[in-house]
Amino acid sequence: MKQWYMIIDVAKCEDCNNCFLSCKDEHVENDWPGYTSPQPRHGHRWMDILRKERGQYPHIDIAYRPTPCMHCGEAPCVKAAIKAGEPGAVYKREDGIVIIDPKQARGMRTLVNACPYGAIFWNEETDLPQKCTFCAHLLDQGWQMPRCVQACPTGALQVVKLEESEVETFSTEHHLNILKPELATKPHVLYKNLYRYDTCFIAGSVAYEENRRMECAAGARVDVRKDGDTIGSAMTDMFGDFKIDGIRKNSGTFNIEVTFGTDRKKKIDIDVPTSISLGTIML
Ligand code: SF4
Ligand code: SF4
Repeated sequence: MKQWYMIIDVAKCEDCNNCFLSCKDEHVENDWPGYTSPQPRHGHRWMDILRKERGQYPHIDIAYRPTPCMHCGEAPCVKAAIKAGEPGAVYKREDGIVIIDPKQARGMRTLVNACPYGAIFWNEETDLPQKCTFCAHLLDQGWQMPRCVQACPTGALQVVKLEESEVETFSTEHHLNILKPELATKPHVLYKNLYRYDTCFIAGSVAYEENRRMECAAGARVDVRKDGDTIGSAMTDMFGDFKIDGIRKNSGTFNIEVTFGTDRKKKIDIDVPTSISLGTIML
C-alpha cells in the first residue's frame, strides 16, 4: 500500500511561519477524537522551524528547516509504547502516519523522551504526549494534503504517496535526504537542499590591481580541492564574488586555487571548521 511522505525544501522556506500558524489554527481548541486532543496555544511546536545562520560578514546566509514529526517507519516512539506495555498508545497506520492515541497514551510522559527528533510535546493540562498527526483527520475526509502543506506559499512543503519499495529511487532522483540517517528510523519526511542547513560554505571576493585601481575579477575560476580531488568549483560574478557550498564541517584542510585570465593565479590552504569568508583575494 502506498504511504504518505512529506517533502520539505530547505531552499524554499522563507520563515513566514504560515505552516506553524495553520497547524495552530487546525488544532488549538479543536478536538479530533481518535487522532489527537486540542493542541495548547503555547509551548507546542508540532511544525517547528529551526534556523541556522552561516558565514561571516560580508558573506552570510540563513537557512530555515521546518521540522514536524518524521512519521518514522521504524518509530522509536512506537517501540517505547510497546516496551511500556501499551502497544496501542502509539501506532503506525497502514498509510504510514504515526498516531499517539489520545486516550491510551494518557499519562505516558516517557514518550516525550523516546523521540530522537524532539517531536513529541507534553500537554500538562490534559496529561498527554502530543505531536503532528500529518492531519490524518483531514486526509481521512479526502483532503489531498495537510493544513501546513496547503498553507505554504512558496511550495517548500509537499506530500506524495509512495510504495516503500519506491522511496530509495525517488529520493535519489529528487536529491532528497533524511535527518539522522544513522538512527535507521526510516523517516517519512524527506528533505531537499538539506546541505543549506547541515553543511558549510567557502565564500570570498576576487580582485586585482590595474593602473593603481582595484578591479573586481569577474569570471575568475575558483576550485576547491581536498587531497587532490576537486570537490567544488565556481566562477566569480560581476562583483568578483564566489560561494562554494555543501562542504562538510571540520573536514580538515582545503586547497583553494583561483585563476583569472592567463596570467593571474593564487593558491591558498585553509581549514574550514565552519562557513568561512575569505574576504578579498588579491591576484
Ligand atoms: Fe515517533 Fe519521533 Fe519518529 Fe515522530 S519523529 S514517529 S514522534 S520517533
Ligand atoms: Fe500540524 Fe497537520 Fe502540519 Fe502536522 S501535518 S505539522 S499536524 S498542520
